[in-house]
Amino acid sequence: MEANSSNPVKTIPCPTCRKPAAVGSEDFPFCSDRCRLLDLGKWASGDYRISSPILDPDLLEGLESGRLRNDDES
Ligand SMILES: [Zn+2]
Repeated sequence: MEANSSNPVKTIPCPTCRKPAAVGSEDFPFCSDRCRLLDLGKWASGDYRISSPILDPDLLEGLESGRLRNDDES
């Protein structure tokens, strides 16, 4: 809904270059395709550290003992 067309396009700072990136654009949250690719490159080259997704002691214990916990599946 664009009830008020006089409003400026909502933007957020581009994660790569900090220029305003239009919310809802095809490259969002980046300002451009270039910045999107640059950010992907950072991930690929290890500039960002992703914390291990599996740090749940119960889950690790389950893996070590050879059985998974499936509490949310019945
Ligand atoms: Zn950018």
